[in-house]
Order: sequence, then C-alpha cells, then structure tokens
Amino acid sequence: MNIVVDVNKIWESSGESAIRAELDNLPPAELLRGVDACPYCGRAHHADIHSVDTGANALETLPARLRELHVSSAFVIADETTKKFLPQVLPYIEAADVSVITHIVADAEPVPEERAIGGIIMDWQPCDMIIGVGSGVVNDLSRLSSFRLGVPFGIVATAPSMDGFASVVAPMIRASLKKTYPAHTPAIIIGDKRLLDTAPPVLTAAGIADVLGKLNSLVDWKIASIVTGELYCPWVASVMRLALERVILLVEAGGDISVPLMDALVIAGLAMAFHDDSRPAAGVEHHIAHAWEMMFLEEGRKLVPHGVKVGIGTVFAMKLAKRLAEWTPGEANLFDKETWLVEMKRVYGRASDSIIALEDAQQKNARANAHARRESAIAHWDEIIALLSALPSAEDVVQLIKESGGAAFPEEIGVSEQNVRDALLYAKEMRGRYTIQQLAWDVGLLPDAMGVLL
Ligand SMILES: [Zn+2]
Ligand SMILES: [Zn+2]
Repeated sequence: MNIVVDVNKIWESSGESAIRAELDNLPPAELLRGVDACPYCGRAHHADIHSVDTGANALETLPARLRELHVSSAFVIADETTKKFLPQVLPYIEAADVSVITHIVADAEPVPEERAIGGIIMDWQPCDMIIGVGSGVVNDLSRLSSFRLGVPFGIVATAPSMDGFASVVAPMIRASLKKTYPAHTPAIIIGDKRLLDTAPPVLTAAGIADVLGKLNSLVDWKIASIVTGELYCPWVASVMRLALERVILLVEAGGDISVPLMDALVIAGLAMAFHDDSRPAAGVEHHIAHAWEMMFLEEGRKLVPHGVKVGIGTVFAMKLAKRLAEWTPGEANLFDKETWLVEMKRVYGRASDSIIALEDAQQKNARANAHARRESAIAHWDEIIALLSALPSAEDVVQLIKESGGAAFPEEIGVSEQNVRDALLYAKEMRGRYTIQQLAWDVGLLPDAMGVLL
C-alpha cells in the first residue's frame, strides 16, 4: 500500500480520536439508527432512512423494501443517460405489485434547476413514492420534488459519484444561483454493484474527490465554531471523518471499490442528515466548485461532475490553509461596496442579484462584522494554526486524486486562470457560511497575497 495521507494524524489533530473507536467498523445500517441524545451536543441525530442496501445483488431487496413501506404506486425518475438502467430496475419494482409511471428528464446531463423540476411537476400523477434511478442530479431532483409533493422517495444509485444519497438537502440552481434547499432523506437507498460497476471512471473519481473535500470542510466547520460560535458536534464530525478515512484508505489500497465507496458516500450523507444541514460536508472547497459551476452556466458551457470540481477546490483549500498557517494576522482590507458591486456583476452575471441580496441581508462584509470576526480569530490563533497545520499538503491531495484517476488541476476541466482567481476571491459571497476563505479576508491575507495561491 502506498500511504499518501496518514488518517491517524487527521483524527489526532481533531482531538476526537476516542469517538473513532465507537464508530469504527459500523456498517451503514447500524449507523442509520443515529443517537437519541448526543453526548456531545445534546441533540437527537436521526436520519429517518428506512433502509440502505448495498452489495452484489442489492436490487433484490427492493421488492421487500417497497412492501415494508406499503408502496403500491411509484413515479420513477431517470434521465437520458440513466434510462438504460430501467429494464434492470423496473422488474424489481413491479415484483412488489407496484404500478409504475416513468418520467425521463429530457437531457443526458441535466442541470438541477427549475426547468427540470417543472417537467417533473407537469408529468406528476399521484403516487405513493418517487424512485430516482441515477446519481447526482436525478437524486437531487427526486429529493426536492418528492419533498415538495409530500411523498417519500427512494434512490437506486447508478454511480458512486457524490455524497448526497443519504443527505437531507438538495443543491439546486434557481435564477442562476446555486442554493441548497432543505428537503428530506430518502426512505430507501439501493447501491447494486451490477449498476455501480458500469459507472464511467470519471464519476467514481468524482465520488472519491467529493469525500476528500471533507479534509477541508471539517476544519472549516471547527474553525467556524471557534471564531463565530457556530454549533459544532464532534460526534457528527466524526461520522463524516469516518467516511473520509474509508475513502482515503480505499484509494491507497486500490482494487475493486464501487461498493465500499458507495457505503462511504452514504455515511457522508448521513453526517449531513444528522446535522440537518450540509455544513459538515461543504466548506470553501464546495463554494469554489459552486462558483465555477455558476461561471460555466453563465458562459453556456457544459458542466463537469460536482465531485471533480470539489477535488480541485480541495487542492486550493489546502494551499490556502498552508498560507494561513504561516500568516501573521493583519488588518482586513476596508470593504468598498461600490467596487464589490461591480465585481459581483462581473464575476457572477445573472446570479449577482441573489448574491447582493444575501449580503444586504447578512452584512458579512460590513466592517464591524469583519472586525469582530478578526478579533475572535486572533484570540484563538494558536488553536486555528494547529488545525490548519495538521492538514495534508496540496501535493498529497493531488496525488490522492491522481491515484483515483481524477482531475486535480483547473486546466484539466477547462477552468480558466480568471475563473480560478475569481473563485479564490469571491466564492465566499455565495453563502453566509464561514470558511477559511472568510478568515483569510478578515486577517488581510486576501486579496493581497492572492498570487501565492495560484
Ligand atoms: Zn451531537
Ligand atoms: Zn459535495
């Protein structure tokens, strides 16, 4: 085995190694139960998922799962790419005496936006359940439409391509802006090896990279709790870290990974469901990926898989973390609203209205707020440095991505140097969420030291 990143170091730096023993070797079905009263944050962590079945012939469990949930009619959603799996999947649904209506999203690589949701609503006939046959976009469309229609949904995964199977939120594009919509978890998750093994290598690499992003997102979350007092749960973070550990070990070991990768992706989604938010899963690496997605949409260009962009975003997050760990905090640059407005229009085009509205509501660039965050960060600087210093190097993450067969550099997916510069400065404007990118602005590293990140 070629060890690239030592997972033990990641646990030790978190100070949460003790929780690892509690969670280690739990199959997803065991984890599904969650906890009624978390010993760390006091909340209940439940995912409300009826079943997760993965493995060589996981689809064979589907008829029994549908009967357990008393499903007698199903609205099955696929897209132009995944409809080829319907002859394999539909017999298992019909075997439970379930009547089926199919809806094919009219695109081989659909965009998760209002047009696709509208098509589903227009074809909708009252059914007991929506069943998505697909992965990323089909999963999100099924999740949001079923939530809005008030019926449960199930997902039959066709690729281990992202971590949102068990998640509770649906990232969608509305009025050109990528937003995360609250929704619900699926009742049924099926990861059948026969389908997963047909996934193009780029989608499997995307699933791996989506989880590698947790190297950063977990640190973003912990630092946010230190600087802004945001609610952080070590148990939920540890569930996510378990998914991260498994994916790193899978990449380092090589071999046949489709089912164990699917299991790790489900665990990552569970962590989001347990927190009822994508916070444990998405920090600045995701904001960078979302920014590039919006830039591509604005330019009318073909999208690349979510996880691929997240992996490249993670490489930049590691560079930013390293620079911050060496940085002596200075004053934040004074926020000039006029310049910022021009920049938002230039970078985000049609989406800039929503971004400006978000800033008007949250005032995160307002000088008093930036100053308060800076003071808090400086008061905890040693603690922050310790977290940042324990992260692997950007080179290590590049090596992991390359070993998984993925893309690690923006030029590999057609992201221009201007796209990179704009995301490294302004990805944070899309969300109110605190990340190390906001920290870098608050202590004066950005925009001045931007050049060292390229
Ligand atoms: Zn908790
Ligand atoms: Zn993701």
